[in-house]
Amino acid sequence: MRKPLIAANWKMNMLRWEAQELARSFLEKVPDLTAYSDVVLIPPFTVLDVVRGVVDGTHVKLGAQNVFWEERGAFTGEISPGMLRDAGCEWVIVGHSERRHVLGETDEMVNKKIKASLDSGLNVILCVGETLEERESGKHLKRITGQVEIALSQLELDSPHRLVIAYEPVWAIGTGKNATPDEADYVQGTIREITGNIFGDMAEEVRIVYGGSVTEENIQELIGEPNIDGALVGGASLQAESLAKIVQMGTEASVV
Ligand code: PEP
Repeated sequence: MRKPLIAANWKMNMLRWEAQELARSFLEKVPDLTAYSDVVLIPPFTVLDVVRGVVDGTHVKLGAQNVFWEERGAFTGEISPGMLRDAGCEWVIVGHSERRHVLGETDEMVNKKIKASLDSGLNVILCVGETLEERESGKHLKRITGQVEIALSQLELDSPHRLVIAYEPVWAIGTGKNATPDEADYVQGTIREITGNIFGDMAEEVRIVYGGSVTEENIQELIGEPNIDGALVGGASLQAESLAKIVQMGTEASVV
């Protein structure tokens, strides 16, 4: 049985005082569900220390939104896996669609970032997903297959628990238009097959989560699907109350 993971991607939001208030308020509202689910807060780099100060020693883990593939050197503006570990991160998002589409990140860059992150001890949330145009022209499965195969190529995975794949259709991110549970489950089943071709039996334990306009209204239905092992939540994670509800409702739905 795969333990669900719910991760909160705060994107480029939160000043220091806001991050502290949000993290504190979320922790007050959410019970310790470690036995049943993993919960990760993923704030911007500039407030990692603030959020770390709140979640350290609790059931909530810390993650970062991006990483570079080199450890040190002349790479102005970049942050290395070791720096993220030093800042208290256990998780990192790689290949978020906003990085791919707004900042030009390629599948090959994603692959390098994943390798460097796993090597340095970070756990990875790999994001994949199709654009509206790709879906409408029926090319979405081909696109997603390519993204997964290149991202995971030549990868040494010592434990299936260190890799999470987030299926995030680009047309569903921040739009209020989520994929239906059936649609998401179908694509995520395909991602599991591709992952199985790469990692064999180990792929059964790799969590595949859904992201794209997840809210407290749709989390239960989504997590009720066999191939949906959690959620990556953007907009709805910016309020403590709604994030706490998503974690609780999602965890309950997956246990039933
Ligand atoms: C995300 O940031 O990964 C995301 C899915 O955002 P939202 O929940 O706002 O669609």
